[in-house]
Amino acid sequence: MTDTPSGASDMASSAARKLDVIDARPAYTQADADALNTRFEGVDAQTMLRALFAEDELGEIAVVSSFGTESAVLLHLVAKADPAIPVIFVDTLKMFPETLDYRDTLIEAFGIKNASIVTPAPETLTEKDENGLRWSFDPDGCCAIRKVEPLARAKHGLDAWISGRKAFQSVTRENIARFEVEDGRLKLNPLGDWVKADLDAYFEEHNLPRHPLEAEGYLSVGCAPCTSKVLPGEDPRAGRWRGWDKTECGIHTPIDGADDDEANQPVF
Ligand code: SF4
Repeated sequence: MTDTPSGASDMASSAARKLDVIDARPAYTQADADALNTRFEGVDAQTMLRALFAEDELGEIAVVSSFGTESAVLLHLVAKADPAIPVIFVDTLKMFPETLDYRDTLIEAFGIKNASIVTPAPETLTEKDENGLRWSFDPDGCCAIRKVEPLARAKHGLDAWISGRKAFQSVTRENIARFEVEDGRLKLNPLGDWVKADLDAYFEEHNLPRHPLEAEGYLSVGCAPCTSKVLPGEDPRAGRWRGWDKTECGIHTPIDGADDDEANQPVF
């Protein structure tokens, strides 16, 4: 793997996406998303993805994956439909080693041909998180520089991206449409209407490898400093940012004044 100046690196032989091109992609509208939601209503996720990839009319598209406990399902669905679809992994440089191993396992097992890593900008880390402890006093700010900005950079030039969001994961993730529009870019949520039983059945049917930390009680795995085990009866994401009034990293839900305490606000 060789880092590029933009912070992304190859994990496969396919050429890396060029991240610094002028963004001239056509903008999607909510009407486009509505039409796609209507067209694929009642169609299973695998059939939908195969149809979309075969038509090849969505423009530049990629999967964004955290390689967490449930990521294998989406990656398997996409790879079965077209293993050449690019997969982007946002490495915050705070990941569990087990997640990095799991990433490599899935890429090889599923025959993913075009996987890349995007990392925080070194100069930003030097300026805003020199000692690597920003997560401990300003998790929103830490997520902004380690997740949100790198992902925005990776998505530059994409027309559409595929997310693994699932409505059932927490009360803050209700009613996720399969197709959404964000900043003129189409966002696909193929698992938006899946429930836990669907995922478990898919894991079993296809004998997918589980994240190594799941058996230890980590039902939702993010960065190591901000992930704890989930107790029986808790929301699967209860182990994320435990003790903080924070439930999202900002990739899916903009962090915007969720906490009125100035002491907890990002300072940049
Ligand atoms: S999850 Fe924690 S360590 Fe990871 S980017 Fe967010 S605050 Fe930082």
